[in-house]
Amino acid sequence: MEQVPGHAGKLYWKLGERFLCPCCHLPTLTFREGYDCCAVCWWEDDGQDAADAGEVRGGPNHRYSLTRARQNFRDHLDMYDTGQGIRVVREPSPARLSLLAHVRRLVQGEIPVDVGELENVMRACR
Ligand SMILES: [Zn+2]
Repeated sequence: MEQVPGHAGKLYWKLGERFLCPCCHLPTLTFREGYDCCAVCWWEDDGQDAADAGEVRGGPNHRYSLTRARQNFRDHLDMYDTGQGIRVVREPSPARLSLLAHVRRLVQGEIPVDVGELENVMRACR
C-alpha cells in the first residue's frame, strides 16, 4: 500500500494499480476524484473524503453523505439505505452475490486483499 499525492495536497491510498474507494476502502478505483464508480459499494468518487465526509453534497451521490454511505456499506455492503438504490444492488445478479460473498470475507479479514482477485470478481459482474 502506498500514498499518492492528489489535488490540493491531498494524499490517496493506492494498492497495486487501484486506488482505495473513499467509501468501502477497497482497491476498486482506477483514479481518484474522477467520478469513477466503485463496483462494490457504488459510491461515485466526486472527491469527497475524510475532511468533509459528513456533508451532503447533492452531486452524483445525491442525498448521501460519505459518512452515511460508509455506515450503509458496513451494514449491508452498498452505499444506499436498505432497500434503496440502483437495481444492481436491489436485485443482485448471481455474479454480484459472488462479489458480495468475496467482499464479506475481505471485510471480515478472512482473506487478504488481493487486487487481481478482486478485479476478477468485479469483472464478472459487468
Ligand atoms: Zn466502494
